[in-house]
Amino acid sequence: MSRTPFVAGNWKMHKTASEAGPFVRDLAGRMPEGVDVAVCVPFTALASAVEAARGSRLRVFAQNMHQAAQGAFTGEISAAMLVDLGVHGVLLGHSERRQYFNESDAALAEKLDAALAAGMEVILAVGETKREREAALTEQVLATQIEGSRAAEVGDRITVAYEPVWAIGTGRTATPQMAQEAHAFIRAQFPPAAAGGLRIQYGGSMKPDNAAELLAMPDIDGGLIGGASLEAEPFLAIAAAAVA
Ligand code: PEP
Repeated sequence: MSRTPFVAGNWKMHKTASEAGPFVRDLAGRMPEGVDVAVCVPFTALASAVEAARGSRLRVFAQNMHQAAQGAFTGEISAAMLVDLGVHGVLLGHSERRQYFNESDAALAEKLDAALAAGMEVILAVGETKREREAALTEQVLATQIEGSRAAEVGDRITVAYEPVWAIGTGRTATPQMAQEAHAFIRAQFPPAAAGGLRIQYGGSMKPDNAAELLAMPDIDGGLIGGASLEAEPFLAIAAAAVA
C-alpha cells in the first residue's frame, strides 16, 4: 500500500514565540509536494506557529498534553486547550518525556484516547535504550510500549515514530537495515486492516546526508527530526528526501 510520507520536526525546548512566527512562515511558504510536514512546538510558541502556518500545508503539533479534560493539574495543558488554539496534533511518548517525566504507557493510553477524542492527530514515539538493544530486548520493548499505550486499538489514526533512544541527539543513527527490521516489527503489531496504512517515522539523528538511505526502506514512511529541524534548510532537505 502506498503511504504519503510524513516528516515532523521536534523542536523540544527551543524557540520562543517571537522566533517561531518568522521561522514557521518561512517553512510554510516552501512546503514540498508529496509529503506531509509538521512541526512539534513548545506550548508557548503554538499560537504564533499556528498563525504563521495558516493557509499552508504545514501542520502544527504540540509536544505533550495532559489526559484529563480539565481539573486541578497545575502547569498542565488539555486537548481542548490545544484544539482551541488551532493545533492539529500532538507528539506523545517521546523518550525524553518517558525518561525525565516518568511518562508511563498507561498514561499514554489515556492521552492517546483524549487526543483522538478531541479530533487531533497523534504521533506516538516508541523505542529501546542502548542497554535494551544490547540485551536483545528491542522487540519486547516495542511490543510492550505499543500494547501498554493501546496504540494498535486505534489502528491507522496515529503515526508511530520509531526512535531508538541511543540514536536521539547522539549523531549515532540506526542503520537502514536495523531501522527497517524495527519498523516491520512495529507494523506487525497492528491489526492487518490498519497496518498497511499506518505511517511509521524513523527518528534518531536523521540528517540530510543520511535521510535518503533510511527513507528508501519499505517500512520507513518519514522521519521525526530533532536537531536538524531547528533550521529551515536541513529540515526541508529531509522533507524533500521523503518524496518518492
Ligand atoms: C527527537 O528529538 O525526536 C530526535 C530524533 O532528535 P535528533 O534528530 O536530534 O536525534
